[in-house]
Amino acid sequence: DTQTTIPLLSTTSIPQVGFGVFLVDPEDTQRVVEDALEVGYRHIDTATGYHNEKEVGAALTASGIPRDEIFVTTKLRNDHHKASDVEGAFERSLEALGLDSLDLYLIHWPMPQNDRYVDTWKTFETFAADGRAKAIGVSNFLVPHLERLLAETEVVPAVNQVELHPIFQQRELREFQAQHGIVTEAWGPLGQGKYDLFGLAPIQAAAAAHEVTPAQVVLRWHLQTGNVVIPKSNRKERMAENLDVFSFALDADEMAAIDALDENRRVGGDPAEVN
Ligand code: NAD
Repeated sequence: DTQTTIPLLSTTSIPQVGFGVFLVDPEDTQRVVEDALEVGYRHIDTATGYHNEKEVGAALTASGIPRDEIFVTTKLRNDHHKASDVEGAFERSLEALGLDSLDLYLIHWPMPQNDRYVDTWKTFETFAADGRAKAIGVSNFLVPHLERLLAETEVVPAVNQVELHPIFQQRELREFQAQHGIVTEAWGPLGQGKYDLFGLAPIQAAAAAHEVTPAQVVLRWHLQTGNVVIPKSNRKERMAENLDVFSFALDADEMAAIDALDENRRVGGDPAEVN
């Protein structure tokens, strides 16, 4: 297999390995995304807050790849939660990307202090209903935020995209999501380079055993855990490396050794506080 897909609650399904473009400079983005598509990615994850939707769109167009073969995600920026802003923000994203519809549209952060995410979600439901978003989901939602959506709205989020990597494995959240059919998508799947993930003993050992890189071991662990991953790299050879994770499998002992690395420790922002 060169790629696996996971069905979403809506009619669509998501390639399990995608390509993220957080912190890719706008002037590099078209080249970087064209490289990613060339090495075989068919799932691109951007956000209005990354300021590179237009350049992602340019790469999609330049690639000549049929629209229905590429899964595109973008996210509502935090300062666009006001009910009157959501529709306009969504339309501007479509326009910047040069698309008629998105495969997945996410609420980027819940911002519980503002207490607007339930209303924002109700507007998202209209995008799903009229087909401009094939799937709608959330990002950085904690269990209580998901519980409110489940209790107060109609559509169950297809995805929750959250920080997730070997020292922050999100066990409780993953379990809750599995019960509700919500797919877990890992951001920072490689720990954002913020700690020496690749130097950890179980990861080194598995890399040596399978003759792959530590990054490939970590991504493989995600896939076998059931997560969607969206690793980022500006370098074409690393893009290819990160996609080349379908020709080996970790055994139960290797999986257990990586599972045991969990410290329940974030390297990114706490969704309860990010504003
Ligand atoms: P990541 O874990 O993907 O790490 C990226 C860094 O890892 C790169 O800068 C690169 O230096 C390094 N790297 C990549 N491949 C490597 C390899 N094969 N070997 C060695 N080093 C390698 O972190 P990320 O980019 O923050 O997360 C991935 C994507 O998740 C983002 O691009 C973005 O699309 C998404 N994201 C979403 C949120 C959110 O709030 N929803 C937050 C952060 C990131």
